Amino acid sequence: MDGVNIWQNFLNQINDKVSSLSFNTWFNSLKLLAINDEEIILADPGKAIKDQLTIYYKELIDETLLELTGKTYKLIFKDENTYVPPERTNVNNNSVINNVEIDKKRIDNYKTNLNPKYTFDNFVVGEANRYAFSSSLAVAQNPGKLYNPLFIYGKSGLGKTHLMHAIGNYITANSDLKVLYTDADTFMNEFVKMTRDTGDKDQNLSYIELFKSKYRDIDVLMIDEIQFLGSATATQQEFTNTFNSLYYNDKQIIICSDRSVNDLKMFEDRLRTRFNWGLKAIINVPEYDLKVKIIKNKIKEVDESLDLSDEIIDFIASNCGSDVRNLEGSVRRLQAYAAIMNIKLYDLQTAIEALDEYANGRGTFTDNSIGKIMNIVANYFNLSTDDLTGKRRSKEIANARMIAMYLCKLLTEETLERIGLEFGGRDHSTVIHACEKIGDDIKTNSELEKIISELKVKMSE
Ligand code: ADP
Ligand code: MG
Repeated sequence: MDGVNIWQNFLNQINDKVSSLSFNTWFNSLKLLAINDEEIILADPGKAIKDQLTIYYKELIDETLLELTGKTYKLIFKDENTYVPPERTNVNNNSVINNVEIDKKRIDNYKTNLNPKYTFDNFVVGEANRYAFSSSLAVAQNPGKLYNPLFIYGKSGLGKTHLMHAIGNYITANSDLKVLYTDADTFMNEFVKMTRDTGDKDQNLSYIELFKSKYRDIDVLMIDEIQFLGSATATQQEFTNTFNSLYYNDKQIIICSDRSVNDLKMFEDRLRTRFNWGLKAIINVPEYDLKVKIIKNKIKEVDESLDLSDEIIDFIASNCGSDVRNLEGSVRRLQAYAAIMNIKLYDLQTAIEALDEYANGRGTFTDNSIGKIMNIVANYFNLSTDDLTGKRRSKEIANARMIAMYLCKLLTEETLERIGLEFGGRDHSTVIHACEKIGDDIKTNSELEKIISELKVKMSE
C-alpha cells in the first residue's frame, strides 16, 4: 500500500468507527502532506483539532493504523505554507504526494465503489418503500432490459443509496457486468478537471479518454444525488452525452435524487425528458410499522444481545423522526449506553435519558445539513436565508454569509462546489475565500470566536 492508499483507507476506517459528526469535525478536513516509514505528516489543523487527535483519539488512531499496516506511525503537524517535501532521493520512494498523479490514478483504476454492506437482504420492506424495492430488484435481475433509466427519489435517509448499492452488489454477484457507482459531485469534479487545460496537451487528451472510458465502457452506471449535478451547463451536456451513449447501447442507468424529476429545476429539459423515459420510484417516509421493523432489524445488526422492550422500540419509532439514519443512531446509542453503564436497558425512563443525553450532548440527532446551518445563522443575525443565498452585499449580510459557509465546510461532508451551489450558485472559490477569511479572523477576533462557538452550540441543540 502506498502512502495515499494508507491515508485513504485509514480515513475510511475511522469514518466507520466514529459518528459522522465527529468524523466531520475532527478528521474530514485533515490534509495529508506526506507519509514516510515512521510518520504521517499533516497540515496543521489548529490547536483544537490537534489536541483532539493527539489526546482523545490517539488510541483509536494508533489501533486503526496498526490494523491497516501492521505498525504504528507518529502524527506530525507542519505549517502547510512553509512545509518543504523531502527530496525524492529514492526512486521507489512514493511517499511524496503528487496531486495530479493521485487524480489520474483515481480516474484510472476501475472500481465499482460498491459498499458490500448494503444488500437487498438487509433492506427492510414496508409500504413506504415496497415499490422502490421491487423496481430495484427487477432492474438488478434484468439490467439494461426492463426499466431504463431507473430513477429513485425521496427524502434523505430513506434508503436510496442503500438500494443502489444493493442493485450493484446483486449484479456483480450474479454476472460479469461492469458496474460503477458514483455521485453527481464526483462526475462533475472529474469532468471539470478533465476540461481544465493542464498545459500538457498529450496528457490532457489521455485524461479525456480515461474519463470517457470510465463512464461509458461499463454496463451499469449508478449516479447518486443527481440534484447536485449543478447548473453547470457543460457538465449537464457531458452527462447527457454519457447517458445517450449508455442508453443506446442498452446499458443500465440508475439515478437517485432527493426530489422528483419535475423539481430538478436547474436541469435542462432534455435531461429531464430522459429521466422520464424509464421508471420512477419514490421512497416515502416509513410508516410506523416499518419503523418498528427497521428498528428491530438494526438491533439485531448492532448487537444481538441488546434486549430492548417493545415500549422502548415504540418510543424510538414515535419520537426519533423518519430518517432511518436516526433510528439506527438511536439504537447504537442505547447499545453504547448499556455497555458503558454495564446495565440492561429495560425501562423506558432510562432509555429516554440515554437518548436525551445523546441528542443534547453529541448532536447525532442533528442533521447538520447546509439548509439547517443557513437557518441557524440567519436567525442568529436576524436575517432570512434568502439574504444568505441572495446577491446583496451589505457588510452585515456578507459577514453572516461567510460565517455560514465556513460552518458548512466545517460541520458537513459537503464539497466546496456543493456549498457554493446551495448559497445561490456561487463559485467554489468564493467558499474557499470565506473559509480562509473566517478561519483567519477567528484567531485574532475573540468576538467572532464567541459567535462561532455559540452557533456551534445551537447546531447541536
Ligand atoms: P438516502 O440515500 O436515501 O439518504 P441511505 O440509503 O443512505 O439513505 O440510508 C441511510 C441509512 O439507513 C443507511 O445506513 C441504510 O442502510 C439505512 N436504511 C434505510 N432504509 C432502510 C431499510 N428499509 N432497511 C434497512 N436499512 C435502511
Ligand atoms: Mg444517499
